[in-house]
Amino acid sequence: MRRIVALSGGVGGARFLRGLVRATDPKGITVVGNVGDDVDVLGLHVSPDLDSILYALAGVSDDERGWGRADESWTAFGEAGRLGGESWFQLGDRDIGLHLVRTQALGRGEPLSTVTARLVSAFGLDVALLPATDDELRTWIDTPAGSFPFQEWFVARRHRDDVDRVRFEGEETARPAPGVLEAIAAAELVVICPSNPFISIWPILAVAEIREALERRNTPAVAVSPLVGGRAVKGPADRMLDRLAGGTEPVRVATCYPGLVDALVFDESDAEGAGAVERLGIRPVVARTLMRDEAASRALAETVLASV
Ligand code: GDP
Ligand code: CA
Repeated sequence: MRRIVALSGGVGGARFLRGLVRATDPKGITVVGNVGDDVDVLGLHVSPDLDSILYALAGVSDDERGWGRADESWTAFGEAGRLGGESWFQLGDRDIGLHLVRTQALGRGEPLSTVTARLVSAFGLDVALLPATDDELRTWIDTPAGSFPFQEWFVARRHRDDVDRVRFEGEETARPAPGVLEAIAAAELVVICPSNPFISIWPILAVAEIREALERRNTPAVAVSPLVGGRAVKGPADRMLDRLAGGTEPVRVATCYPGLVDALVFDESDAEGAGAVERLGIRPVVARTLMRDEAASRALAETVLASV
């Protein structure tokens, strides 16, 4: 069994993890998930990225919509909206079932990591899924139009504003969730999933002890680029890289993870960027990175496993 730690955001990370659990023994995998996106909706604690991972690995995600659960219905959400409740952040009925369980657990003082572990076993998964932190760590987006809590910018404003800066409220005091540092210390491979560097991976690295443990690692680390042909498959990663990292070539993704990666896997359509990655002292690995289906995810995971 190969012991692997994977840092992941939501959908892009989850797509990759679906391949990783088929390419290697899932019992060896610890996923460290982003919680900077967590949000309170209608009194429910929603952890969108942890849930995208849970749903994808359990095979119950809606891949067409790109988020949430398959076979979803919207009765509770529709009724809440009709009664004047919050309606900017959609929650399906099945999804709400999970949020009720989580919210009740948190309300009686259970840490997020504990309730997440219960959800993992309720879905019958073999991986460990740990939130980066049990503490409150929230992503804020500074834009020319003002500063917004992450979901207000992403969902309510449809990430239309350019991003000047990403901040993480609570980062000074956030501690790694139990098991994160142990998993990093025991890992034979660290993988940074093809997630948005700024809003999915940076909030994990904002937990100082996690970043330090990864800087000190004595095991190889590989990142997978979320860009294909210099464009995000979905979402604002390309715009953000352009504005915050100076471009969308593979090397710009690498510069988001200084001292944290030994190899970068990126798409064959971006192959001309290999030299610049190499000049950073990072091994460039060119592959097909578009995960159209499970077979493509698995092939990409196998490339990552063979890359170092
Ligand atoms: P979120 O939290 O749901 O936004 O998900 P992530 O941050 O984990 O993933 C978003 C990123 O996944 C986007 O930047 C996409 O470009 C990337 N992504 C989605 N599908 C694919 C794919 O098939 N291949 C690659 N390389 N990246 C992908
Ligand atoms: Ca997310």
